[in-house]
Amino acid sequence: MTGKTHIVGGLAAALISVQYEPTLDPFLVLPFATLGSLLPDICHSGSKIGRKLPVLARLIRIFFGHRTMTHSLLFLIIIGYLGYRFVPYSDLTTGLMIGIISHLILDAATKQGIKLLFPLSMSIKLPITTHTGSRTEKLIRHLLSLYIIVQSLFLFHHLLPITVG
Ligand SMILES: [Zn+2]
Repeated sequence: MTGKTHIVGGLAAALISVQYEPTLDPFLVLPFATLGSLLPDICHSGSKIGRKLPVLARLIRIFFGHRTMTHSLLFLIIIGYLGYRFVPYSDLTTGLMIGIISHLILDAATKQGIKLLFPLSMSIKLPITTHTGSRTEKLIRHLLSLYIIVQSLFLFHHLLPITVG
């Protein structure tokens, strides 16, 4: 999936999470879910995040390859362990994890699948898949965007009550 779709997926996942878990702080969860939604593609030097950190992207690609370690449960566990242990705001780590999970789900919906069980080499994909950049991906992105707009209006209306008149 493209970076744009991952951002939209991460934001939608964050909004669903804060809706069902009101103790989560949306001002931490939303931005860090967005960051997390791009993080797994650090293994790809042409990705949005890979272009920002080209040396790290190259190293990860050399050591692990594309869509392997950073698209696995192992990566999720490492980020979760480091985040909850060393970062004082747990919602920040939760946001990051939500974004990473949304990324893994979206990439598992591509023909290539992901190496979810890395270091095992088997590819895992959802029963229904599509190509990156396809019309189906565009449709998914538009539907998720619509959900984000509607859900944000509800959420921020509650958080920042605006009085009219
Ligand atoms: Zn990816």
